[in-house]
Amino acid sequence: MLPLVPHYIAGEWLRSPQLPTTSVFNPSTGDVIAQCPVGGAAEINAAVAAAHAAFPAWSETPAVERARVFFRYRQIIEHNYDTLCATVSREHGKTLSEARGDVHRGIENIEYACGVPTLLFGDTLENLARGVDCETLNQPLGVCVGITPFNFPAMVPLWMFPLALACGNTFVFKPSEKVPLTAVLLGELLEKAGLPKGVFNIVHGGREAVDTLLTHPKVRAISFVGSTPVARYIYETGTRHGKRVQANGGAKNYLVIMPDADIGKTVEALATAAFGCAGERCMAGSTALTVGSAAERLLPDLITAARAIKIGRTDQPAPAAQPDMGPVITAAHRDRVLSLVASGEQEGANVIADGRNLRVADAPRGFYVGATIVDGVRANMTLAREEVFGPVLNVMRMDDLDAAIAQANASAFGNGAAIFTASGRAAREFKHRVKAGMVGINVGVPATMAMFPFTGWDDSFYGDLHIQGKEAVQFYTQQKVITTRWFGGEVGDVWKK
Ligand code: NAD
Repeated sequence: MLPLVPHYIAGEWLRSPQLPTTSVFNPSTGDVIAQCPVGGAAEINAAVAAAHAAFPAWSETPAVERARVFFRYRQIIEHNYDTLCATVSREHGKTLSEARGDVHRGIENIEYACGVPTLLFGDTLENLARGVDCETLNQPLGVCVGITPFNFPAMVPLWMFPLALACGNTFVFKPSEKVPLTAVLLGELLEKAGLPKGVFNIVHGGREAVDTLLTHPKVRAISFVGSTPVARYIYETGTRHGKRVQANGGAKNYLVIMPDADIGKTVEALATAAFGCAGERCMAGSTALTVGSAAERLLPDLITAARAIKIGRTDQPAPAAQPDMGPVITAAHRDRVLSLVASGEQEGANVIADGRNLRVADAPRGFYVGATIVDGVRANMTLAREEVFGPVLNVMRMDDLDAAIAQANASAFGNGAAIFTASGRAAREFKHRVKAGMVGINVGVPATMAMFPFTGWDDSFYGDLHIQGKEAVQFYTQQKVITTRWFGGEVGDVWKK
C-alpha cells in the first residue's frame, strides 16, 4: 500500500481515503511513492474555518512571541535538515546540493520573519497640527492563502507562510500535488515549534480546492507562484472576489554575452543558469544572446561543459553518488521539453549539444533529459517564445547590444535578465534599459534573497506587492493611521519647564 498524504486541518493530520488521488513520483526512478488526495470544497471550508477561528488569539499574540515560534522553527529545521533535503531530492529530483540550496533559501526567509517585531514598526509624526499627533499601525489581515508550484518544494512555501504568520495572520497552504511530502514535513516541523492549532493548515487539491480558496468570503489574501496562465487566472479571480493577490508566473530569461566577457567565468555561470535544477527554475537562463564574436569564443567551451554534466539518480543517500543534474519532474514534462527541442529543429535551429535519448543505466524509467544547447534560434520559433522549464539553452546571435536588449525586451515575460561583460558602460546601458525585474551583471541567476523583493515584471507577475522583503510585509498587513488630540492643559508645556 502506498502512503496517503494527509491534510493538516485545525491541528489534526487527516487522511481522506474517500477522496480521489494523484500519484507522487520519485522522478529519479519513475516509481510512484505516495498518493496525494484531491481535496475539494469540504476540506478547504474546514481549513479556512479553522484558520478564521484561530485568528483572534493569534493576531493578539505579541509580535515578539510570534517571532519566537519562528526562531524555534528555524532551529528545528536545522536539526531535520538532512531529512528535509532528502525528501526534496526524492520527490522532486533535485540533486542533494540543489535541495540544500532550496532549504537554505527557505531558512533565510524564516530568519527574515524572525525580525517581525521591527518589521512591523509604524511611523509617527508629532505635532501634525498643534497638539495633534499621527501614527501608523501595521495590522494583520486575517486568513491568508499560499498556492505553490513543484519546483522549489521548500523555498517557495517558506517565502510565504513564515512571514504571513509572523505578521499575525493565519494560513491555508495548498501545495503542489507533485511535491506534497516536503509540504507535510514543513507542517510537522512547524507544529513542533509550538504553533497553536488552526493557525496553519495544509489542504491538497486541484482546481476545485483553488477555486474555493479564491472565492471564499473569509480569505483575505492569496500568494501564488506557478505558471503564467494559472497566475493570471488566480489574480483575476481572486481580485474579482475582493482578495489581495500577488501571483508570480513563468519566465523566459535572457543572458547577454558581450565579446569582452570573461569566457571561463561566463561558461561556468551559463552552465549553472541553464542546467542547474535541470532548468526547472523561474530564474533559469534559458536564452544566450551572444553579441558579435562572443559566440565563437563561448560556444566550444559551453558545449564541452554541457557534455561533461553527469546525469543520474538523486535519490541515493550517499553524497559521493550524487550526479551533477537529476531528472525533470514527470514523464509528461520530459516529453514536453523534448517536443519543444524538436520543434526548434524542425523550424531550422541546430541542436549543438544533444541531451535527448539519454539513458541512465540504473534507472531506465526515470524522467531524464540531458543538457541541451540549441543554436540559431530565431524570435519567431515556438522554442524562442515558450517557457521550456528544462535543461535547454537557446542561443540567438545578435549584432550588437541594442539588438540584444531589443530581443530581451520583446519577451512577454519579465522575470530575470543578465549581462556578461567587462564594460561598465555596457552593463549600465543594459541594467537601465532591460525590461526585467531582477537583473544580473556577471551573475547568471540574479534571484533575490529574503530581504529583497522577488520582482518579476509583465507576464511573470500579477499584483502590486511582490513576495519577500518589505513589500511582502506590506502585502501581509494593512495600515491604520491614527490621528490623536488630547484636551486640557497647555500645548507645548514640556518646553516651558
Ligand atoms: P502550475 O501553474 O502548474 O501549478 C502551480 C500551482 O497551481 C499548483 O499548486 C497547482 O496545483 C495549481 N494549479 C495548476 N493548474 C491549476 C488550475 N488550472 N487552476 C487552479 N490551480 C491550478 O506550475 P508548476 O508546473 O507547478 O510550476 C512551474 C511553473 O512555476 C513555471 O512556469 C515556473 O516559471 C513558475 N515559477 C515561477 C516562480 C516565480 O517566482 N516567478 C517561481 C517558481 C516557479
